[in-house]
Parts: sequence; structure tokens; C-alpha cells
Amino acid sequence: MAGRPNLPDMSTTNTTAEALPDYAPVPRSALGPALNEQGYYVGRVERNLYWVTDATYQSAFLTTKDGVVLFDAPPTIGNNIQRAVDEIAKANGVSNKVTHLVYSHHHADHAGASSLFAKDVVRIGHEETRRLLARDNDPARPVPEETFSDRRTLKIGGERIELAWHGSNHSPDNIFIHFPDHDTLMLIDIVNPGWAPVYISNLTEDVPGYVAAPATALNYPWKHYIGGHLGRLGTRDDVVLHQQYMADIDASVRATLPKIDYTPFFQKYGDNSWAAVKGYLDACTDAAAAPVIEKYRGVLAAADVFTPSTTFWVMESIRLDLGFASYVHP
Ligand SMILES: [Zn+2]
Repeated sequence: MAGRPNLPDMSTTNTTAEALPDYAPVPRSALGPALNEQGYYVGRVERNLYWVTDATYQSAFLTTKDGVVLFDAPPTIGNNIQRAVDEIAKANGVSNKVTHLVYSHHHADHAGASSLFAKDVVRIGHEETRRLLARDNDPARPVPEETFSDRRTLKIGGERIELAWHGSNHSPDNIFIHFPDHDTLMLIDIVNPGWAPVYISNLTEDVPGYVAAPATALNYPWKHYIGGHLGRLGTRDDVVLHQQYMADIDASVRATLPKIDYTPFFQKYGDNSWAAVKGYLDACTDAAAAPVIEKYRGVLAAADVFTPSTTFWVMESIRLDLGFASYVHP
């Protein structure tokens, strides 16, 4: 997902908490473990694979006999990544030196703490990640020296990690990180376990790729899912639930689109075509999102907050990528 926008000048945008909208309560099952005083939680995924969270972002690391392999460096966790590594390394009497950093994809919100690590860290990522980071030229995210195109097996300190690129999804370069000896899959910005996707399907660039990714994920053998967001790990059931949620949005859009009449929007707005288009698409979005919000309230946290945004994006993909309800002038 992309970084948060610059905060506006507070003096000109005062609001009160009371004036803000209410949403459905977050189900307990969506929340993860409590954070420590420094604002992070580090836990074991399986054996020497660990995960770190600040309750919004997630990172992971493997301790090996030759040092630590880090997977993503979200800036919100920032210096707490090394603190978490130190804590685990000390408890287990192993090296705390981060020797490798694997990028899941190029986005700053998952990679922006990369430059905190020593210059001799070996950075590894997809070749498209390298291209995009070279383009973006952000000193916080050095380009990966080691790249791959489709698949790459890493063997570091006696540990095995399988990297694979299965096509674009959330971003053009987002990869699958499989830990076959730890029963774990790390796949960032696709499924947020326990939660609805944030804006427009987790700010996804390729909706068909995003919708297909969970099935690809489920083709791998694993028990633990590291999704990159919010406060807990995921299970296979979380991935299946997310798949169902996206399928329900798709079905609702297809059922709703043909039923909404665009005539009144063009009658009202005359030659202001964009006003008519906005009124029509907003009406389609709201009508298609409503039954999905109803079904997932209390099931996926924030379904009422973000389902309309994701529904709009899925609707646009169904129209533009798939040509659904496309009108050809007679
Ligand atoms: Zn992202």
C-alpha cells in the first residue's frame, strides 16, 4: 500500500471527535497480541521464524547460524525491527546481525526502513522491484542488488526460502515468500487477516491479479500466513474468507450494475458529463456494497468502513478489464 499523505495544516481543518462517524465494533478476533512499551510485539511463527508488528504493519525475520534474514522493513516499525531482533537473538544466544533483507515489493510503507540497516546488508527482490526503486530514487529504500524474475530459492545459514513471482497483483512486483520448512507463507497487501482490505482492494493496481492471488497462495502448503497488515497472523481460513468476500463483491456488482438506470443522472446534470457519471457510479457502488457490508459486519473488521471503496474498484475492473456491461453504440 502507498504511504499516508502529508497531514494537512491542523489549524485550518479542526474537527471534533464527536462530529466523526461511528462504525461497527471491531470483532475481538481481528485483534492481535498487546504491544510492549516500545510499541511493538515480536513472536515466534514457527521455530526460528519470527514476526514483528506495531498492530498496523508486519515484518518477519529468520535467525540463522550465519545471521538474520529480514523480510520487509516497514518504517512505522522502524528501529523497533532491530530491537525485536536483538530481543530474540539474546534470548536464544544467536547472532543479531541482519545480513539479508528481502523486499516483498517496492512500496515505501513496507520497505521504508531499509536504509536503517548496514550498507553490507544483501538486499534481495524481484527485478521489477529493482526497476521501480531505481525509478523512485528514495534513499530510504536502496535498490536490491540481488534480483530474480520468476523463482529463486534462497539458502542462507542452512535455511531455505522460496521466492516466486506469479504476475502482478497488488503491485506489479509483489512476490510470494514461502518458508517450506516453517509451514509459512508471507504475501503482503493481499489478505489482511480479520479485516476488510483498506481503500480500493488494498490500493491495488491490478484487480484481476489481486483477486487471483489467494488461490495461488492456497496452492502452497502452509499453516501460518504473514499478510503484512494489522495485528495478527493469518490462517488458511482467513484467506478463504477473504476470497469469499471478494467473490461476494464481484457477484453483487454484476447483479446490481444492469439494474441501475443512468437516465436520471444525465437528465439532472445535462452537459456536465462527469457529474452524471459520478452520480451514476456512486449509486452503483452504494447499491452493490450494501448487501456485502450487511453480510460481513461483525465478521471482517471495518467492512462498513472500506467495502464501498473496494466495491468501486472491483466494479471498475469488471467494467474496464473484463468489459462487463460495456455499451457499443449501434
Ligand atoms: Zn503495497
